[in-house]
Parts: sequence; C-alpha cells; structure tokens
Amino acid sequence: MITSKLRPILERFRFEEKVELIPPSPCHWWTAGFCKAGYGKFAMTVAPGAYITCHSHRVAYELYIGPIPKGMHVCHKCDNRLCVNPDHLSLATMTYIGGKRGRV
Ligand SMILES: [Zn+2]
Repeated sequence: MITSKLRPILERFRFEEKVELIPPSPCHWWTAGFCKAGYGKFAMTVAPGAYITCHSHRVAYELYIGPIPKGMHVCHKCDNRLCVNPDHLSLATMTYIGGKRGRV
C-alpha cells in the first residue's frame, strides 16, 4: 500500500520519467501528453485511483521550487511551453502575462 508520505516521491519519479534533456538545449523537455495550447500535461495522483490533470510546468514549479501562490501563474522565461526546467520558470501575475502575449 502506498502511504501519503511515499506518494509525493513516486509522483516525482513518474514526472521525471517523462522529461528528457536534449543537448545543446538548456530546456528540460516534457515528452508525454500536451494540451491544445502546447503545454505539457501530467496526471497527478491525488488519492489511490484518483488523478487530476495539471500543466507539467506548474507541476515542475511546485516539485522543485515550491507552492504557487494563489492568483499567480507560472511563466516560461525560455518561451518553450514544453520546458519543465525549474531555472526557466518564474511566477507572474495575469496582468504581466497579458503584456507579454504568448510568452507564458
Ligand atoms: Zn526552457
């Protein structure tokens, strides 16, 4: 039986299985499913047999950096929507994103 303490470790392992490094690109490429907008998708286990689908870059932010504050969005500094490299992710408000158009 998977305990609640073990589940985050297994989720991180499952997440990292879907990421590839493709030198010379500094990005960490999401290789599993993606949505129509081009962002990676990850089915996160929230309880035994229960999943929620999340954008992979948001999952990467929470796995490697920390919780995403309410109302904030995770942006790609590298403009690669399939990138999950935590060094390429940053938080932004919707107002900031609206000003950049398409660079989230
Ligand atoms: Zn990147």
